Amino acid sequence: MAGQKQELPVSGEPLAAVESPMTDATNKKKKKSKKNKHAEVQVPQEVVEELSSKEKKKKRKREEKEMEKEKEEKKKKAEPEASNGGESEQKVVVTGKGAEEAKYAALTSFAESKLPENVLDCCKTFQKPSPIQSHSWPFLLDGRDLIGIAKTGSGKTLAFGIPAIMHMLKKNKSGKGTRNPTCLVLSPTRELAVQISDVLSEAGEPCGLKSICVYGGSSKRPQIDAIRSGVDIVIGTPGRLRDLIESNVLRLSDVSFVVLDEADRMLDMGFEEPVRFILSKTNKVRQMVMFSATWPIDVHKLAQEFMDPNPVKIVIGSEDLAANHDVMQIVEVIDDRARDQRLIALLEKYHKSQKNRVLVFALYKIEAERLERFLQQRGWKAVSIHGNKAQSERTRSLSLFKEGSCPLLVATDVAARGLDIPDVEVVINYSFPLTTEDYVHRIGRTGRAGKKGVAHTFFTQQNKGLAGELVNVLREAGQVVPTDLTKFGTHVKKKESKLYGAHFKEIAADAPKATKITFADSDDEN
Ligand code: AMP
Repeated sequence: MAGQKQELPVSGEPLAAVESPMTDATNKKKKKSKKNKHAEVQVPQEVVEELSSKEKKKKRKREEKEMEKEKEEKKKKAEPEASNGGESEQKVVVTGKGAEEAKYAALTSFAESKLPENVLDCCKTFQKPSPIQSHSWPFLLDGRDLIGIAKTGSGKTLAFGIPAIMHMLKKNKSGKGTRNPTCLVLSPTRELAVQISDVLSEAGEPCGLKSICVYGGSSKRPQIDAIRSGVDIVIGTPGRLRDLIESNVLRLSDVSFVVLDEADRMLDMGFEEPVRFILSKTNKVRQMVMFSATWPIDVHKLAQEFMDPNPVKIVIGSEDLAANHDVMQIVEVIDDRARDQRLIALLEKYHKSQKNRVLVFALYKIEAERLERFLQQRGWKAVSIHGNKAQSERTRSLSLFKEGSCPLLVATDVAARGLDIPDVEVVINYSFPLTTEDYVHRIGRTGRAGKKGVAHTFFTQQNKGLAGELVNVLREAGQVVPTDLTKFGTHVKKKESKLYGAHFKEIAADAPKATKITFADSDDEN
């Protein structure tokens, strides 16, 4: 404001109305001259006082307006960007060798990456790189190994996909004819594998790169034929990949770019052994990327074993798992046998239009099958997705749900993580999952891309061991904690992490390992 041009009083306007920011000295002078002028025209004291009180009011109003404007601007700056669901406001922490070097500075635009047009073709509808892309590309394009802690929805597929394409183009591996793959992406579930494959096929096409997706539960023949005809990128689940390697169909000796997606989930599902086997078959000189939603000790150990000793680690948001705060969580403590009727009542409430997407979670394949039948018998149009279904049926159910022609889907936890299903309005947990971590992932299927969602959960006597952890999740997200739930006790396993207990705690590498209990009917991938 200093040096700003002052407005002169217009004739007839009371002098007291002239007001400007100034130094103490000029202020005093001005006051003096004001006094003199008032004396000249002999304005009565009450009028002077009235005028100055009016002036004070005006000044106060002006100040209030300015404060309001300032507040508004601050608010605007804090507002999340629609293009990446507020991710830009999340904390980003980059650690590892060279993290502070200028050459690894985060990109602010696609143009800054100086990547060829055909490589960036798949990004043409996006405004700018998402935070995980803008931070990871400089490292990955420089050939560095990278650990990314980011969730699905953050744009992580292209975060590794674009550097993978550049890696292959540099190796001059594209083209026709028989060739072994150069890039391998491991996914814990079939659905996520298909989702990644869709993105990479589209991204690789303008560059002449071919991809194939391999997973269990579907015929091997077309997968074998595609591999034999020559592919650049293989995306797959551990079971089928191992099978194809062991039968000498798939050779990974040329694979020099490896991605392990949802590494925590992969190990949770008991895939550590096949993952190790598959990694050991890739080229010893390789670039490796690991994405995980959390960072437990087993994932840490896998990274230490297979990655460069100095990988860069990028954390978008938090390494701890927290429930999405855009989801209203309702937990209902209920008798086991009352759940069927209650589910119908909830559908009448949440799915009256039969047009909005509602996802019902069951724990076991057999339970999902029964629920689908039960709902259909009661006149609801429902489809399901679980491990007892052939892959073609799973894909069909998922696309009917995604495109909205059947917006009621019953699913086991295979659908809980990683899937980019738009606009799920309500998640109903008919059965509580085996871990609180899975609960957080399930409810995260709603409330995406800046929208609000509802998660309604049945909690029964059988789940009481998880009551304490669930209470913590609800409290952290500022949700109502039902008294019935606290009656089960709020105890969490010892050595708890700040959110959910021992399950998420990083323990010492030499600590005795917990035994993994595999439920005969639980819904694992292969
Ligand atoms: P992902 O985390 O890879 O599953 O991506 C989630 C969604 O984000 C997908 O629908 C992508 O098409 C979209 N996406 C990827 N990159 C960007 C970007 N830079 N800007 C906006 N959306 C993006």
